[in-house]
Amino acid sequence: MARERLYLFDTTLRDGAQTNGVDFTLSDKLAIAGMLDDIGIDYVEGGYPGANPTDTELFGQERKLDTTFTAFGMTRRPGRSTSNDPGLKALLDAKADAICFVAKSWDYHVRVALETTPEENLASIRDSVRAAKAKGREVLLDCEHFFDGYKANPKFALACAKAAYDEGARWVVLCDTNGGTLPHEVEAIVAAVVKVIPGDHVGIHAHNDTEQAVANSLAAVRAGARQIQGTLNGLGERCGNANLVSIIPTLKLKGEYADKFDIGVSDEKLKGLLHVSRALDEMLNRAPNRHAPYVGESAFATKAGIHASAIMKEPATYEHVAPDTVGNRRRLMVSDQAGRSNVMAELDRIGLKVERNDPRIGTLLDVVKEREAIGYAYEAADASFELLARRVLGKVPDYFDVVQFDVNVEQRINALNQRVTVSMAVVKVKVGDETLISAGEGVGPVNALDVALRKDLGKYQGYINGLELTDYRVRILNTGTEAVTRVLIESQDETGERWTTVGVSANIIDASFQALMDSIVYKLVKAGAPA
Ligand SMILES: [Zn+2]
Repeated sequence: MARERLYLFDTTLRDGAQTNGVDFTLSDKLAIAGMLDDIGIDYVEGGYPGANPTDTELFGQERKLDTTFTAFGMTRRPGRSTSNDPGLKALLDAKADAICFVAKSWDYHVRVALETTPEENLASIRDSVRAAKAKGREVLLDCEHFFDGYKANPKFALACAKAAYDEGARWVVLCDTNGGTLPHEVEAIVAAVVKVIPGDHVGIHAHNDTEQAVANSLAAVRAGARQIQGTLNGLGERCGNANLVSIIPTLKLKGEYADKFDIGVSDEKLKGLLHVSRALDEMLNRAPNRHAPYVGESAFATKAGIHASAIMKEPATYEHVAPDTVGNRRRLMVSDQAGRSNVMAELDRIGLKVERNDPRIGTLLDVVKEREAIGYAYEAADASFELLARRVLGKVPDYFDVVQFDVNVEQRINALNQRVTVSMAVVKVKVGDETLISAGEGVGPVNALDVALRKDLGKYQGYINGLELTDYRVRILNTGTEAVTRVLIESQDETGERWTTVGVSANIIDASFQALMDSIVYKLVKAGAPA
């Protein structure tokens, strides 16, 4: 049976940008649009031209993407003509492949919010679609509050959708704007709509207020809708939008959908899904949701000993899909319930050969447990785990010793009468018999410390020249009685390899110092530097 095409529409940059605390810059928007384009999302909604300077600039020039780059905005205002509406003009002038209009489809909102008549609302939809078509744009209509509107007045809600379709809109998108509709209601209402408008012109836009935005999107597809709108990681105001990061693997990996539908995301690109999800979190400086379906760190993590041993024999016993299909990996957690076999599997992964009954394995397990209890996170810091394992197994040379360091932060008025803050660090390092003292200046104390530490490592300097820090993340943890700071540092070398190290302390400088040290030592071990 030939598979039907199902289209994905991403609105991370528009509806997702409504999230509290999210404020995308132009370069963030371009980077995210690029990632979405790359994995094969059919439509990327970039924003609302005319509504703010960032979005106006975003649509100020051609973006040359394979995806259908879409601008969002309102239909013409009631009582105005299409040629006399500045908002509509900005939208029509935007350098976009498609225009997604939003219009009311609930008579109650038309009366109360728009203060106009149902007839004028329908005329506004028809005029706006016609104007955008005349500009050569593909047109979509988001029917706001469609499900609530349909329950109140099905005839009017359908008339709004039909008006857009009849004028030539490519898609009529049914929005559950308040997010309170349940899957069986979505399925029934979409089934009624596709009797009037062909399903391959009908989309679903679900919000997550009953935590069923994904289920509602799938219910709409079962009933005949052929476009799903959503966001990366379910970003969106209140409880979020439908999460494309959960929807995409479900469509690709679950037979009921995979056998019937094709989407623009290839099997190969599906493997990059975890990366896309994490990249968005990093851009927003948010901790990734460990328990996110498919891509969370815990999605394929097994703790209990009995499950772990079964999983090592036959992964399918406790996994609904194979982790690598979405770029994730199986984790046998090093924890109090985990046995020796988990540690052995980790050591095997990093290439350390140890006998199974070696007593040092038990020691390593104890050290990891103790340190994780005070805030270290070894699952997030692969390089620090490897160093810890090598140290317990007696395999890390003492390359150098930091005898002393001093960090100074000073705020003063400069010659231009501006208040500036400068940081200086001095580090005293012993390499063999040689004592080296280096100073560094930086934008902040950790940056200054890093500069000073890497300025002169004597005979090891050649090994670390290509080392650079690519990310620095700080989190305050409450481990019982007092708050501690956990620092994660991501580094990269000239080969492009990246690794993450961790430091924990009540003092942020101390925590950063530990993570910096681990990063340098890891690089020396990796490069095979002599002791
Ligand atoms: Zn929305």
